[in-house]
Amino acid sequence: MSMTVMRPAQGCCCHFNNAINNCFSLRYRRTLKTPSLATEFPFVAVASPPTRLSLSLRRRPLTVASYSAATMSSSPSYDKELAAAKKAVSLASRLCQKVQKALLQSDVQSKSDKSPVTVADYGSQAVVSLVLQRELPADPFSLVAEEDSGDLRDDSAQDIRARITELVNDTLSTDESSSSTLSVEQVLKAIDCGVSEGGATGRHWVLDPIDGTKGFVRGDQYAIALGLLDEGKVVLGALACPNLPLTSIAGANQQPSSGEVGCIFFAKLGSGTYMQPLEGGPAVEVHVTATENPEEASFFESYEAAHSLRGLTGSIAEKLGVKAPPVRIDSQAKYGALSRGDGAIYMRFPHKGYREKIWDHAAGCIVVTEAGGLVTDAAGKDLDFSKGRFLDLDTGIISTNAKLMPLLLKAVKESLKEGESCSSSM
Ligand code: AMP
Ligand code: MG
Repeated sequence: MSMTVMRPAQGCCCHFNNAINNCFSLRYRRTLKTPSLATEFPFVAVASPPTRLSLSLRRRPLTVASYSAATMSSSPSYDKELAAAKKAVSLASRLCQKVQKALLQSDVQSKSDKSPVTVADYGSQAVVSLVLQRELPADPFSLVAEEDSGDLRDDSAQDIRARITELVNDTLSTDESSSSTLSVEQVLKAIDCGVSEGGATGRHWVLDPIDGTKGFVRGDQYAIALGLLDEGKVVLGALACPNLPLTSIAGANQQPSSGEVGCIFFAKLGSGTYMQPLEGGPAVEVHVTATENPEEASFFESYEAAHSLRGLTGSIAEKLGVKAPPVRIDSQAKYGALSRGDGAIYMRFPHKGYREKIWDHAAGCIVVTEAGGLVTDAAGKDLDFSKGRFLDLDTGIISTNAKLMPLLLKAVKESLKEGESCSSSM
């Protein structure tokens, strides 16, 4: 048996307005369409025994490692927390896949109905909350998550409540450690565990039950993103991407993958990042690209134009000398793809006034930093997850490897400056 224990350089984890955005030329137009349907799969939560293999998508061979063996030396150990997190997001993925499959098969009229997303969102949050509490019964439980049950308790939501409860029970019944059938009230209570404010002390789980709901509705990328904060730092992350191909998406824009989809990325502080098929199989250690040449680098950004200033990202890419057009996909699947070197850079510059939430970045951030990457705000500062439900940051979020980061930061600084002078002269 062979095994590599990678200790990547510990990357420190971590507005602009329309007028400014319009100052930049929109040079790039490229999108990645994902397979329209995810197939259901049997749930397997544990990694297979270690074997050696290399994946063709990598520029260098990857070694499959026994996750538990690779993490023996880290202190404190978050092994049981990570196992619980993986199980929670894997089961939640199952629920989401079931709903997405039905949604995509439905007619146009029912596609405009928002309730499938609602059901999957709440259902996913309930499953994660319940699994974490069941798997870690001795730990105090604090969950910072997007949803609460307020709207669901309305008289008019009776049907939706019942559908969510049924889905949650069906999903949990596929796991051998689940026993009793939950009532509607128990499911609503599990959802309401997500009201925690997080903060700089103690442990807090951070969850986006469906990150990228727009991608979910389109049949494209979405993620179930779960991180754990300990004393304000992200110490582990489990990122399930049910529609992400297992092989590289670099250069695969607009072509639905014919291969297998469904990945889970997971990382623990100081222990590297691993990728595993959602349906089970060997866990493979992944690394961000080693490229030092921006001309060879491609960059990810949001599929949704409303979520990032494309004029600005285009200008930054141009300054860097990036040749490839952007790869636009939804959700934290971008962090997953970056962590395995499908692209070299991720840029996110929300419109002025948008406040980033911690659940949109916690899992993705540790997945990238443990794979050897860096995630910072536009000023080069680490993301600070200790300030409650929001990230308090300068202008935007950027991520790349340590070699490219100084060049990226320089290009960001110059483009922001140009944007400012452009807007002040308008
Ligand atoms: P992405 O697909 O990378 O844009 O990420 C999806 C996430 O973007 C959603 O889960 C939202 O939390 C977040 N989001 C929603 N509206 C905005 C916005 N106006 N700007 C930036 N992010 C947003
Ligand atoms: Mg989100």
